[in-house]
Amino acid sequence: MELIDTTDALAKTLAVRRAADVAGLGVGFVPTMGALHVGHLSLVSTARSASATVVVSVFVNPAQFGPGEDLASYPRDLDGDCARAKRAGADIVFAPSLAQMYPGSGSAALRPQTRVSVARLGEVLEGASRPGHFDGMATVVAKLLNLVGPCRAYFGEKDYQQLVVVRQLVADLSIPAEVVACPTVRAPDGLALSSRNVHLTGDERAAAKVLHGALLAGRAAIEAGERHPTRVGEAMAAMVRAEPLASLDYAAVVVDGDLAPAVAPLAGELRLLVAARVGAVRLIDNLGVRAG
Ligand code: AMP
Repeated sequence: MELIDTTDALAKTLAVRRAADVAGLGVGFVPTMGALHVGHLSLVSTARSASATVVVSVFVNPAQFGPGEDLASYPRDLDGDCARAKRAGADIVFAPSLAQMYPGSGSAALRPQTRVSVARLGEVLEGASRPGHFDGMATVVAKLLNLVGPCRAYFGEKDYQQLVVVRQLVADLSIPAEVVACPTVRAPDGLALSSRNVHLTGDERAAAKVLHGALLAGRAAIEAGERHPTRVGEAMAAMVRAEPLASLDYAAVVVDGDLAPAVAPLAGELRLLVAARVGAVRLIDNLGVRAG
């Protein structure tokens, strides 16, 4: 496993590996912000099973954090990440410095002049709660996909809106990447694994399972015949509000793959999404459900 920290070295190594890839299995790419856990590693294993070369990027992207968000406290552990990525089958960990990704100097360099902005899909839900977040994410993902070149790019359903935004930007900009969605990996109590979970205290960690509980309540309501999105949203919201350590941001029912608010009577493939703060930690989760 090779740790690479410059864009030039990444290009050279990938050129050599592509030339040696006689079977044409190609490159599998897993973009991350590091502090790798079993959820990330499931993406790496899936990439490994289909690719000649597996690249994992580790880059905490300042451009997708808003003022007052947790950029400074975001967990970082590059040595541990390399060891975990290697065990899961990565060939390359690409961990560029800020200067490599955003050449220039000062804070202006962290806000590149060219920005990728996915209208509507990037403005609702998380985009409304975290203005500019998806512009920062889309910009860095476009950069990373350009640096890696043609690949299958693996994204977790855990960050469902991110997945939808990335699919749109890849299509709109004709980026030669095939986006592959991977299922959410959860702790036994249902909490979706997330790098941010390490910041939860013991009580908060126990309370955090309420996000998944709310999604299950929403799904149960639909399965019991509820066809009004407001009432499904209320069932989810009530569950989160009943947890004293949690503070609800949103509970939404949208059309799967499109993020448009679902309308009554609910029908077809839907996605339930919930965002809440547990203590100081902001958590998100989602679940697909079919209203038959
Ligand atoms: P992050 O490091 O949080 O930016 O996540 C990097 C990638 O890992 C994204 O595609 C996430 O959706 C994915 N990911 C994070 N947590 C999980 C999880 N619990 N299950 C599956 N994928 C995940």
